[in-house]
Amino acid sequence: MKYLKERQEYIDRYDRVTVEKCRWAEKAVTTDFVKKYAKDTDEKEMNRMADAFNNLQVWITVGEMYSKKEETINKWMKEDEDHDRFFETAKAPINIKCLTCSRDMFVSSKHLETRLNKPDRVLFMYDCTLDHIPRRAFYDNGEEWKYKKPLCVKCSALVDRVDDDTEKMWKSTSTCSNCGHIEVSEIERTVNKPADPNFEKDRARFCSETERRKYIDWMRTAHELTAILDKQKEKENNKELYDSVAKLKRLKIIELEQLLAPIFEKENYIKLQFKDPEITKDVIVPFTVHDTKQGREDRISCHDLQKLIKRTLEDTNWRLMSDGVNYRLGMLEGRLKVYEREEDIVKLISR
Ligand SMILES: [Zn+2]
Ligand SMILES: [Zn+2]
Repeated sequence: MKYLKERQEYIDRYDRVTVEKCRWAEKAVTTDFVKKYAKDTDEKEMNRMADAFNNLQVWITVGEMYSKKEETINKWMKEDEDHDRFFETAKAPINIKCLTCSRDMFVSSKHLETRLNKPDRVLFMYDCTLDHIPRRAFYDNGEEWKYKKPLCVKCSALVDRVDDDTEKMWKSTSTCSNCGHIEVSEIERTVNKPADPNFEKDRARFCSETERRKYIDWMRTAHELTAILDKQKEKENNKELYDSVAKLKRLKIIELEQLLAPIFEKENYIKLQFKDPEITKDVIVPFTVHDTKQGREDRISCHDLQKLIKRTLEDTNWRLMSDGVNYRLGMLEGRLKVYEREEDIVKLISR
């Protein structure tokens, strides 16, 4: 018994699932369904709407199935390979003795048990060389397989079971020896399903390369679009912030000078001079100015100038740099920095 099969078998299996899903999607929305939501629409229009929904649904299914195809097939193959490996490498428990003659028994066959959400296990069948009964069976973990007698679900007494095996059905009837309760279980035999005459045709429709490509391109566009919309939404949510960003005065260096000089002079800071800007990734403009107010101490002079600059530049994209201003012999020095990129301005304002 070998679990792992040729890749083509897995492709076929996957395509069968895709075809089934798409066949369903194609008919998912009916005109009657549309009627409930679009009451005042004429019949023709409703048919068109139903078709549009279904086409979209098919398109999405085709694309989704395609995008997971490789991964799923690889997973299936890996699982089957693991079953095979486990089956081949499982060790049979040793020193199993015949219950009749106490001789060592030998392994006559082994079976793999695959269970949902539980690890695989292998059951080894043991026989005595003298064909004694009972035969014995052990799992690879050493646990002995025991036949469990069926018990009555009502009173737990032993039941008599009669099996009836027909071509279409496997039927088992258990009658309780104590209370007379009868339990019947039936399992329909999987009769070979009739061939699917439209499979290859539908497979060509739903598993074709061009349709999948279109879907993948479209999804990429959709992701990009989502990113743009998210940014837009962020702007709407922070409308006030972005409004202030828009309102901020963006000044050229000469405009900055023209703004500051008269305001400084009013407060007795004269001869404002800008030096050559330091241009790296930011633009920084050093400046000097002279304090002419009698008796203003250096500390107070610095403090006043800083306050003045802060107030004046508040609604512009310029700021005094954090090293502040220095005072020497009545001359004050400082550096001004401009914020040009929108994201920097947003940061500046939301501080
Ligand atoms: Zn024996
Ligand atoms: Zn009973």
